[in-house]
Amino acid sequence: MPGWNLKNGELNNVRVSEDEYWSLFNFVFSDACMKRNTYKFGLIKSIMDNLFNCVFEDRSATYELSYEDIFEKFTINYWNLVLRYHLKQMRRDGRTEISKIESILMQAAEENDLLESLDYEALPLDDKKKIVKQVSVSCRRNVIGALYADMDGKLYGFDLKSDSIVLSPYAYDFMLKYKSELEKLNYYAWAKFMEKINSDDVLVRVLDKLELATPKRDNLSIYREILYKEFEECNCFYCGKKLEHIGRGIHVDHFIPWSYVKDDKLWNFVLSCPRCNEKKNNKIPTEIYLDMILKRNEIIRNNMDVVVEMDFRNYDSEQLKRLWKYAQLSGLKQFSTVRP
Ligand SMILES: [Zn+2]
Repeated sequence: MPGWNLKNGELNNVRVSEDEYWSLFNFVFSDACMKRNTYKFGLIKSIMDNLFNCVFEDRSATYELSYEDIFEKFTINYWNLVLRYHLKQMRRDGRTEISKIESILMQAAEENDLLESLDYEALPLDDKKKIVKQVSVSCRRNVIGALYADMDGKLYGFDLKSDSIVLSPYAYDFMLKYKSELEKLNYYAWAKFMEKINSDDVLVRVLDKLELATPKRDNLSIYREILYKEFEECNCFYCGKKLEHIGRGIHVDHFIPWSYVKDDKLWNFVLSCPRCNEKKNNKIPTEIYLDMILKRNEIIRNNMDVVVEMDFRNYDSEQLKRLWKYAQLSGLKQFSTVRP
């Protein structure tokens, strides 16, 4: 397999057309692209799930994405597939039939009976760190160079000894724009690969299992507290109704729906009344609200709160505007309500 043993590779930072990126990605999704395991799908998914953790470097005009972020998402995405759904990730090739990610997760579960029944989110922080580190060290070597080579270096450059990969700005724009399409194609190819190596009983609803592999965080109360207390967002963002009590009566809403961003960042959260939250559901707010959240974010980003600083590290208002547009290309309908 070309590239699997590369230790570094320079980013081929040329302007790449959308057509060419489609061709590169579709090659990776195809059977013509060699795969012993599902790592390439896992890595593409991890990079896409991390688009909002990439840091733009002015000097080189590229985006940096840390191995830690990449392999944390990688671990999260495989967690349920391996431990809950028992879906094999590697072709039997005579030598071994278990990929490194499977053996790391299974071993962790063996050492601690409780882990298997837990969601990744619920693990103690130390356990998470330990597992992610192991995954990062073992999987980095096998997968980063391989996908690099398949993409002719036009997706990212890397050095296994550094802390991060360097993403092409053209690739970044492409992935942001076609996030939902790429995600679906990646799931499809991943599912097809797993169908060849798994038995029918574990393959039931395999696409659902892939989609559900990215767990939705359910406890957003920290964001509710920050927005309500620190920024005095005491009115529903959409209808303006007063939000009386901190607690269940106030919903934390993903402005751009979670189904699209697959991430929890403060710049994408607003507080809403239950009624608006329910009505909005998986829709995208109209342009009036876009202007409102852009203004709101400018106020918040200058605050020195730790969570704010973390979440706003890579915030860019132009990017939010693009996201708002692209989310609609992905088929999300608009939402509006009458403000009293
Ligand atoms: Zn409301």
